[in-house]
Amino acid sequence: MAEDIFDYSADVLVVGTGAAGFSAAITAATEGASVIMFERNDGIGGTTGASGGTAWIPNNASLRAQGAEDPRDDALRYMCRMAYPQYYCADHPTLGLPERAYELIETFYDNGYKAIDYLREAGALDLTADRVAPDPDRPIVLPSGSIVKSFPDYGAALAEEKVAHGRHVSPTPGTASMIEQLAAGAEKHGIEVRTEHQAVALLRNEAGEVVGLELHNRTLTRLAHAHKAVIFASGGYAHNAELVRKNLPGRVFGSCSTLGAQGDFVRIGIEADAQFANMHNAWWKQVPVEASLDSPSPPGIWVPWGDAMIQVNRYGQRVVNEKLPYHDRGQIHSVYDPSRREYPNLVLFMIYDDAVASSESMEGMRRPVPMPDDDADYVIRGDNWQDLATRIDEHLEALGEVVGGVRLDASFSENLAATIERFDGFAETGKDLDFGRGESVFDRAWNGPNRAGSPNPTMAPFATEGPYYCIIVGAATLDTNGGPVINSRAQVLGTDGEPIPGLYGAGNCIASPAGNGYWGPGATIGLALTYGHLAGRSAVAEPAKTI
Ligand SMILES: Cc1cc2nc3c(=O)[nH]c(=O)nc-3n(C[C@H](O)[C@H](O)[C@H](O)COP(=O)(O)OP(=O)(O)OC[C@H]3O[C@@H](n4cnc5c(N)ncnc54)[C@H](O)[C@@H]3O)c2cc1C
Repeated sequence: MAEDIFDYSADVLVVGTGAAGFSAAITAATEGASVIMFERNDGIGGTTGASGGTAWIPNNASLRAQGAEDPRDDALRYMCRMAYPQYYCADHPTLGLPERAYELIETFYDNGYKAIDYLREAGALDLTADRVAPDPDRPIVLPSGSIVKSFPDYGAALAEEKVAHGRHVSPTPGTASMIEQLAAGAEKHGIEVRTEHQAVALLRNEAGEVVGLELHNRTLTRLAHAHKAVIFASGGYAHNAELVRKNLPGRVFGSCSTLGAQGDFVRIGIEADAQFANMHNAWWKQVPVEASLDSPSPPGIWVPWGDAMIQVNRYGQRVVNEKLPYHDRGQIHSVYDPSRREYPNLVLFMIYDDAVASSESMEGMRRPVPMPDDDADYVIRGDNWQDLATRIDEHLEALGEVVGGVRLDASFSENLAATIERFDGFAETGKDLDFGRGESVFDRAWNGPNRAGSPNPTMAPFATEGPYYCIIVGAATLDTNGGPVINSRAQVLGTDGEPIPGLYGAGNCIASPAGNGYWGPGATIGLALTYGHLAGRSAVAEPAKTI
């Protein structure tokens, strides 16, 4: 290859302009490298730009400044237990995890707080911790209008959890959004950003080292030369229907990720002979299935709203603590029943009474339950229980293939009556003997308004008369988080276990160090910033390569 064939040339090329990409680019530029970022969309930001901009970072500086401690051993136990419950073993030297998986989590603990301190010092990102001690008199108002009591970790109820609050950091009040801060930081460090440039292939020299990219820029093909390294930070594959069908379990009804999440790094990684992992995982949530007919990004059900509210399957049975965090609850849909040889929870029915529907409150995560004066096509109304069941089944019939032909079982109405009676009993005593709803600090923190005198604010008995309401809900993703495997320097590993020279990855495009876990609010961006930073640092230390 001759230098004059290239349209662009820099020490480090970064693919993607989300949290991972900006963290990598700003770090590399701060360390003295010339950097160009490429983005396939016509604007920057990716899913990060649509996000709340919060990052989960253990042992962060503002947590420590509030006098709290987050010792390494405690944090590692919590993260490993959440990430790999199938391997976790408290007495084992790597807590039962495969060595590489353990090392990636250790690396995150050791470098996460350093990464955000570094970005702050580089003048690119100013984040502050949530309150370590939540204040019941000062609830938190979110930009959406929702009001939550605090932001505990998502596994706050586990024995391994020692620091339930304060690992979550977000843009310091009065500063710009995360993506605006990062974009301004990149500009300050002289980083060139090229939108409408989709990386489609790696360029490799005779030694097999990665030395550049082939890109599509509208109708043109462009070539870019990387003197040192290429860093992929291109998000997941949530909007690539074929990859979703091939890899994710159950059935998926959309994603709130950027439409740029097309899984380009899956194809490019396969061509580069990279190792893959975590392809069956995602950052999960639930959505109204019928809203997914109108949009590839239907509104998320972060925590199902309402106290006289349950989710049941097509047999009229509750299957989950409805107040669990979105990621954990979203996975209930892909549970396989070997006796029935089906996915009985493929879609669930979120049922609530008129007291919930007609409440004006914005406490808790109300959406997508509409305000009393608003209509939503995905809300089914029945005058009484029988009427509701009839209407739900009509909607299922109309959905047909979209829900895999699921219909209510003949036992639905009888079972639902028994389920409601049992739930009402739990609400009276305040104890959910089936799923422990309301026992975790998380369940209560994101819950809606308290009814006076309720022994458990997450539950209330259903009204004895209708109308009743239902939203048909199914699994969806914030994005996927499987892909090529990296090591603790963020180098992409080949199938031979060795780093592919000059190739790095971070964020949702790689096999997530979190495995199946979602540690707390901001876990995805915390990892993206940290491994982006490590990729940027390591890339600068690479030797220059011949082309
Ligand atoms: C509404 C909402 C709220 C959320 N809130 C939070 C939160 O507060 N905290 C949290 O941790 N997570 C949150 N998430 C999830 C979080 O936003 C993402 O997991 C995270 O931002 C992903 O960062 P990333 O850098 O890996 O990818 P992205 O931010 O998606 O950036 C990847 C970029 O790469 C581009 N790209 C893809 N392929 C190519 C290619 N071939 N060439 C060039 N460019 C390419 C994409 O177009 C995209 O712009 C939220 C998500 C949503 C939708």
